[in-house]
Amino acid sequence: MSLKGKTALVTGSTSGIGLAIARALALAGADLVLNGFGDAAQIEALVAEIQAEAGVKVVYDGADMSKPAEIEALFANAAPNGIDILVNNAGIQHVAKIEDFPVGQWDRIIAINLSSAFHTSRLALPGMKAKGWGRILNIASAHGLVGSAEKSAYVAAKHGIVGLTKVTALETAETGVTCNAICPGWVRTPLVERQIEAKSQEHGISIEEASRDLLAEKQPTLRFTTPEQLGGVAVFLCSAAADNITGISLPVDGAWTAR
Ligand code: NAD
Repeated sequence: MSLKGKTALVTGSTSGIGLAIARALALAGADLVLNGFGDAAQIEALVAEIQAEAGVKVVYDGADMSKPAEIEALFANAAPNGIDILVNNAGIQHVAKIEDFPVGQWDRIIAINLSSAFHTSRLALPGMKAKGWGRILNIASAHGLVGSAEKSAYVAAKHGIVGLTKVTALETAETGVTCNAICPGWVRTPLVERQIEAKSQEHGISIEEASRDLLAEKQPTLRFTTPEQLGGVAVFLCSAAADNITGISLPVDGAWTAR
């Protein structure tokens, strides 16, 4: 299966799941637009590394996904020929009870984890429809399907993106474009590492014990999903085998949402 000739934009692809999905799409032949925050020299090295290992064209645009004007500029500057594969992955987390939840954090999470996907989709869809082919992958979460205490903004945003996925699939049903959500459970990335560290400090236990507790609480397989496994799922959803898979929310969650 080759994605040669396609261009993929993966938001938040300087780290974690987004980076692994970007690498997998590049290894399948897609040119890339990388996005996300980080050290400029490290990002430059990353661009060169993926270009060399996959033999594809890679550009980087540091648009802040909480800012619609920067998203519009990304599409104008980094993707003048349009985006064939859009992976809405950028996301942040904040953990606090509703009554203690900082208002600014609520707004940032909704902007980055949910509204950015509306903006990228509205900008990508005309080109995809004109070409008669496109893939939109929304990186939701098990928290797009079920809730957890102290994650109000994140759970609201992820349920929202599952809804957006369904509407996008319906609006594109006859166009050759598909839109699906991927719903990972625990994946050991910097986003989750911070939650493991917080648990270890709060309960005075080791990082190892905290990570075991985190899994035991939610993920029956007691194993983390790896970013590379999610890269494989993304490539599958871009393949011809998935031409008629659209509007779904696919749990990759070690049976988290099975109970
Ligand atoms: P991560 O912290 O490793 O990576 C997040 C990426 O988003 C980074 O590249 C960061 O620079 C970028 N980013 C953050 N704010 C941004 C902004 N305003 N504009 C542009 N880029 C921005 O986290 P991750 O775990 O790889 O998470 C990626 C996605 O997967 C998120 O949407 C997250 O909610 C989702 N997810 C993660 C897990 C998990 O267990 N790690 C589980 C389910 C879903």
